[in-house]
Amino acid sequence: MSAAALKPTLPAAAKPFLPYGRQVIEDDDVAAVAEVLRGEYLTTGPAVARFETALANYTGARHAVVCANGTAALHMAARALNLGAGTKVVVPAITFLATASAPHLNGADIVFADVDPTTGLMTPETFSNALQRSGKVDAVFNVHLNGQCGALEEIAAIARINKIKVVDDACHTLGASHVTSRGIATRIGSNAHSDLSVFSFHPVKAIAMGEGGAVTTNDPAVAERLVRARNHGMTRDPHAFTNRVEAFDGQGNPNPWYYELTEPEFNWRANDIQCALGLAQLAKIERFITRRRAIVAGYDSLLAPYAPVVKPLGRTRNSLPAWHLYVARIDFEAAGLSRAQLMRALSNEGIGTQVHYFPVHRQPYFAARYGAQLPGADRYYAQCLSLPLSAAMEVGDAERVVEALARNLNL
Ligand SMILES: *Cc1c(COP(=O)(O)O)cnc(C)c1O
Repeated sequence: MSAAALKPTLPAAAKPFLPYGRQVIEDDDVAAVAEVLRGEYLTTGPAVARFETALANYTGARHAVVCANGTAALHMAARALNLGAGTKVVVPAITFLATASAPHLNGADIVFADVDPTTGLMTPETFSNALQRSGKVDAVFNVHLNGQCGALEEIAAIARINKIKVVDDACHTLGASHVTSRGIATRIGSNAHSDLSVFSFHPVKAIAMGEGGAVTTNDPAVAERLVRARNHGMTRDPHAFTNRVEAFDGQGNPNPWYYELTEPEFNWRANDIQCALGLAQLAKIERFITRRRAIVAGYDSLLAPYAPVVKPLGRTRNSLPAWHLYVARIDFEAAGLSRAQLMRALSNEGIGTQVHYFPVHRQPYFAARYGAQLPGADRYYAQCLSLPLSAAMEVGDAERVVEALARNLNL
C-alpha cells in the first residue's frame, strides 16, 4: 500500500473536530510551565504550595492537598478516612469508575446507590434505600454529576445521624456552589457539609493540569494524613518520631537524614510543572465557567423545539452549576435510531459525543460482587448523551451540533 492510500480522506471544507470536552491553553499557561522548566525545581518545589493555597482560597477550604490525578485524590481520601477492609462505602451508580474503584482498592466494599433518572444524581431517598439494603455503612462518596450539585445538605444530614463520613466527588464541579435551604451559597470544596472534597484537573475538566487532582478539608489532622498518603507515608516531623534512638543524637537534636514510615503509602505527588499549569488555569476559571454557562444556555434554547424526543438534563434547585458536561436526554426508541448509530453519524460530521456513564454497578467486576438492581440508573443511562461542551466553544458550535443532531434524528 502506498503512503497516500493510508491518508484519511477529508472533505474539502471539513470543520475542525469538535470533541465532547477539551482544555483551553493560552500563552500565559505556556509561560508558567516554561518558567518551571527553566527553574530549579521540577517537583516538590514552590509551585505545589502556591497552587494549594490558591485552591484553598478559591474553594473556601482551610486546606487543599494536590496530587497526581482525581483517582489518586479519591484513594487518598479513602486512606485518610480509614476506609479499608471491613468498611462499606456508598457510591452512586452513575459516575466514573474511579469513585468506586479507589475506595475498593483500599479494601472497602462498595454499596451502589440508585440515582434520579432525570439528573443522574443520588437523592436522599436513593441514599436511604442503599443504607437499608446494606447495614452499617462507614462513608458516602457523593458525586456532583455534570457540574451541578445534588442534595448535599440532606444527604449530609442523613449521614450525620448514621455516623457516616461524607466525601464529595467534586471532579465535575470545581467552581459550582451549593445553595442551602436558607439561601446561603457555599462553594463546592469548602466542605460546609462534608468531610472531604475531591477534584480532578484532567484536560476535559474545568481546569487542566495534564493530569492532576486535589483533596480539600477543614481538618488540619486530616490534611496531614492526606500529605502522608501522597508521599510514601513518611514523616520528617520530629514530634511524630517513635524510634527516638535512631531519630535523635545525644543532644536530642533530630538526625538530619532521618525520616520515619508511619504506614506504607504510594507516591501520588503532583509535580511543579503540573502545579504551575494548574495555578495559571485557576486564575481564569470564572471566565471558563461563564463561557460554559453561555454554551449551555444556547443548547437549552436550541434544543427546546425537539422536546420530548430530546430533553435537557433535569436541573436541581439547590445549585449554582459550573457545567462540566452538556447531557441531553434522548428517547432513541421514539427517534427510531440507536445511540451508537447517532454517535457514529455525528462523529462522521466531526462532532464528538460520549456517554457519561455506563452504570458502574453493571460493570462485570462489580456486578459479580454486588449485583444490585438500580432502575433509576438504568433509565438515566438509556437516554444520556454528552454533547460537546468546553470553554473553547462558541455558541455557533452549539448551533452546528444541534442542527446535525436534529437532522440525524429526523426531527
Ligand atoms: C474525572 C473523574 C474522576 C477521576 O479523575 P482523574 O483525574 O481522571 O483520575 C473521578 N470521578 C469523577 C466523577 C470524574 O469525572
